[in-house]
Amino acid sequence: MRKLTDLTIATARDGLAKGDFSAVELTDAHIAAMTAARGLNAFITETPDLARARAAESDQRRAAANSAGPMDGIPIAVKDLFCTEGVLTTAGSHILDGFVPTYESTVSQNLRDAGAVMLGKTNMDEFAMGSANITSYYGNVINPWKGKDGKDLVPGGSSGGSAAAVSARLALGATGTDTGGSIRQPASFSGIVGLKPTYGRCSRWGTVAFASSLDQAGPMTRTVRDAAIMLGAMAGHDARDSTSAPIGVPDFEAALSGDIKGLKVGIPKEYRMDGMNPEIEALWAKGIDMMKQAGADIVDVSLPNTQHALPTYYIIAPAEASANLARYDGVRYGLRVPGGSLDEMYANTRSEGFGDEVKRRVLMGTYVLSAGFYDAYYRKAQRVRKLIADDFTKAFEAVDVLLTPTAPSEAFAIGEKMDDPVAMYLNDVFTVPASLAGLPGISVPTGLSGNGLPLGLQLLGKPFDEETVLRAAHVLESAAGFDTNPGREG
Ligand code: GLN
Repeated sequence: MRKLTDLTIATARDGLAKGDFSAVELTDAHIAAMTAARGLNAFITETPDLARARAAESDQRRAAANSAGPMDGIPIAVKDLFCTEGVLTTAGSHILDGFVPTYESTVSQNLRDAGAVMLGKTNMDEFAMGSANITSYYGNVINPWKGKDGKDLVPGGSSGGSAAAVSARLALGATGTDTGGSIRQPASFSGIVGLKPTYGRCSRWGTVAFASSLDQAGPMTRTVRDAAIMLGAMAGHDARDSTSAPIGVPDFEAALSGDIKGLKVGIPKEYRMDGMNPEIEALWAKGIDMMKQAGADIVDVSLPNTQHALPTYYIIAPAEASANLARYDGVRYGLRVPGGSLDEMYANTRSEGFGDEVKRRVLMGTYVLSAGFYDAYYRKAQRVRKLIADDFTKAFEAVDVLLTPTAPSEAFAIGEKMDDPVAMYLNDVFTVPASLAGLPGISVPTGLSGNGLPLGLQLLGKPFDEETVLRAAHVLESAAGFDTNPGREG
């Protein structure tokens, strides 16, 4: 028999339905894998007892022919940015020491309601700021994949723990959040599928905020079908988040028809950047060819403001972060470092509680929002954001989806780019434009680099058209035939 940890969400679902194994057995197999792979540092908090209890409840529901939902009994991991009732929630930060929410985020509650079993909370860049999972207070996450030199590599970030857990088969799926690429980029680095839905598709309620106009939760899985199943369980309107869209949740799995004949796939010329990594360019060409072979029409399009996306993002995201992070004052949450006065206590708590990258963002954010610079930076960035969104609107008049690379490189070694924040920010060059425009995007593992490491391609779609994105991604996945197994489980 196949190992239970080698199943996908879809095949595990079918096996549970047929009674081939129980949810407790499936969960136990994943708990054992999670324990054996502690060296990856993918989890900040493991919740095996809770998982076993929920799995047992799932088995009871099933025995009573009272199944809860589409993910009943499926073990998953939850990024430590989602508040989980009674379970430590850190956002990867020292400042949230000991923070145990009394409530559950809407997304994790939706998954719970669908029957999913939480194995634990995954490691992440502090407050989701990063592209390599090297800014966590809880240490680096190690990518389950290794290149030829055998060095430890980053899994991408900020959802690096979720990516590593899914890639190493410690969980069948995991939640991530994507503000500028944090689902798609780690998916590309770790050889899995990562879907950022349209802004507003999933509720942000109960998710620790980074940049509120950009943050969006999404699934990280080993197949496109699993992403469709998991998104269906996560998404939905939520009256507690005024930016959550009041629209229904389609059957995303039903969209996987395997047919993209006549689908118009746009290739944005501005994504072909100077000095582009030739392997990434070759992969992109291969992906274009696969879509063509599958019957899609390839259309060249232009997104003229692409070059402004990265600087625009690195004004807007830190501005919003500086406002959101003002609440960590030593009074309301987690860590408190005493001082001689109230102001000193604030300063001591924030100095000790935040890491360097978070401080950098708060400094940038307060600077661009300050009275003297607001017009020059923040207001200007908002205007450029609109132009970037308009470029996409125009392109989508002519095409159904866009195909681009996900990340400019393969996973790099832990330690690289660490002293150069701008080099780190460049990882997001292909992902941030769609984030600024609020569009859905998916990364599909499409090939290996010469060094034997996974590389992903990105498909972007129209607002709330995840169905077409998933349909196209499913075809790309089949054509690429990528083997998601890194071949080492810890
Ligand atoms: N790497 C980007 C940043 O550091 C994106 C992070 C994210 O999407 N959460 O801001």
